[in-house]
Amino acid sequence: MPWFRTLIQRTTILTQYSKSQKSTPIFTPPSLTQLLHFSTQAAESGGSGGGALTVTAGLGRTKGDEKPRVVVLGSGWAGCRLMKGIDTKVYDVVCVSPRNHMVFTPLLASTCVGTLEFRSVAEPIGRIQPAISSEPGSYFFLADCHGVDFENHVVTCKSLPDGAGNLEPWDFNISYDKLVIAAGAEALTFGIKGVKEHAIFLREVHHAQEIRRKLLLNLMLSDVPGVSEEEKRRLLHCVVVGGGPTGVEFSGELSDFIMNDVRQRYSHVKDYIHVTLIEAKEILSSFDDGLRHYAVKQLVKSGVHLVRGVVKDVQPEKIVLSDGTDVPYGLLVWSTGVGPSGFVNNLDVPKSPGGRIGIDQYLRVPSVPDVFAVGDCSGFLETTGKDVLPALAQVAERQGKYLAELLNKLGHAGGGRANSANNMDLGKSFVYKHLGSMATVGRYKALVDIRESKSAKGVSLKGFVSWFIWRSAYLTRVLSWRNRFYVAINWLTTLVFGRDITRI
Ligand SMILES: Cc1cc2nc3c(=O)[nH]c(=O)nc-3n(C[C@H](O)[C@H](O)[C@H](O)COP(=O)(O)OP(=O)(O)OC[C@H]3O[C@@H](n4cnc5c(N)ncnc54)[C@H](O)[C@@H]3O)c2cc1C
Repeated sequence: MPWFRTLIQRTTILTQYSKSQKSTPIFTPPSLTQLLHFSTQAAESGGSGGGALTVTAGLGRTKGDEKPRVVVLGSGWAGCRLMKGIDTKVYDVVCVSPRNHMVFTPLLASTCVGTLEFRSVAEPIGRIQPAISSEPGSYFFLADCHGVDFENHVVTCKSLPDGAGNLEPWDFNISYDKLVIAAGAEALTFGIKGVKEHAIFLREVHHAQEIRRKLLLNLMLSDVPGVSEEEKRRLLHCVVVGGGPTGVEFSGELSDFIMNDVRQRYSHVKDYIHVTLIEAKEILSSFDDGLRHYAVKQLVKSGVHLVRGVVKDVQPEKIVLSDGTDVPYGLLVWSTGVGPSGFVNNLDVPKSPGGRIGIDQYLRVPSVPDVFAVGDCSGFLETTGKDVLPALAQVAERQGKYLAELLNKLGHAGGGRANSANNMDLGKSFVYKHLGSMATVGRYKALVDIRESKSAKGVSLKGFVSWFIWRSAYLTRVLSWRNRFYVAINWLTTLVFGRDITRI
């Protein structure tokens, strides 16, 4: 009876979640009658169902002698900054995310070519908020949230058992006192055919790993006897689509890799490898004109081929531009900005311009009680009179910090429980002040634009000094001393010994 075997497997695994009686799990193994009872309960309360037999487990409502529970969806810049600042004497914290770490995205491009190691840009959640690993009522759940029952204060999630034998994903529910949606955004593809299938995005550590493996594979294959000239050129053509900061920084890293490492260690194929950056408008459009021109000059000097064009179709070995040009590629990296994810699109709440979750000046989702949204997934509602903030780490981080302080204040004043803070004074609203933008362009050069907006007055720097500022600024922003140490050592190792070119 395969369904029975699956049921037993799930029972064993889900038991681990009920670490303590304190957190009042809905699920108490192992009687079949009980399991069916909880399944029915979940279905009645709007929990997810479906399939022949759905067992819905999870964490029930917090009781009077327990701490109120903050459920955080996402472990990115916003969610992690919030978790870091939350007072765990007042709240239990439950984080639901498909990854157990935060990615320090500004340095992600450097890991694709071995300037930095992957672990240097990944910070485990248990280090950011130790209570998650030690407090009986706080947890990290490796799962995707796929539904929120705002009326009953319950989120429905699906586990992600990929790679754990023949386990099938299962649903579970978590009751919240406060819910923080920090689920980020998704890469935009503009509905272009073949992007998802053939291009690699650059948003997660596994994307950087895929890029590095593919780049090194192509370098090695192109050296093997029997590869035609044409195939060699295709394999070693790296195409980047999108001329924003991520696309430009990645192109700069690639050209540094080619000039400093490929020329020495893959000298047989050094004349075949090329980088092309395709952008529909102008590169780095959010930067000052002087800085943009400088970036173009530097990229061209480094051998990056800049193409103004619109991608129409992506095929396994070539892309087709709207003017009919075919561009063969061996590696295709897609970086054309972000938009709302499917999860955000499906949430039944008012949206901001651009389709993000609509929030007010206190980062609340005003249409539903006890729900907040921060980072790339949220945007101010038109009624607030504020502009939707850019999808940036500095916005997400500051929103996470502000919200942690707000929730702590509510918790200390007795407003931590569900529906208990409705008439409380929230104090100062969230105000964002842009600190400026930075981007590296390779060859120890960078741009630093310290202005509140493109039209405002301020300082803009370029060249080696900016590159030094860029490195120092990000080194100090890396979350832990462990990773700061890793990053510094990786930079030093690369300077002395070159980049790591092992394909593991
Ligand atoms: C390569 C790169 C370089 C960048 N460089 C800079 C820079 O130099 N400066 C800057 O200011 N910004 C930069 N950014 C942008 C910055 O990283 C984002 O603005 C920031 O990550 C947004 O934070 P967030 O917490 O909203 O979302 P994210 O950091 O994207 O985190 C979202 C989290 O939600 C999780 N999640 C998604 N769906 C669900 C779900 N259904 N249920 C539960 N969890 C879910 C994700 O797994 C992830 O953990 C860069 C981005 C990239 C990709």
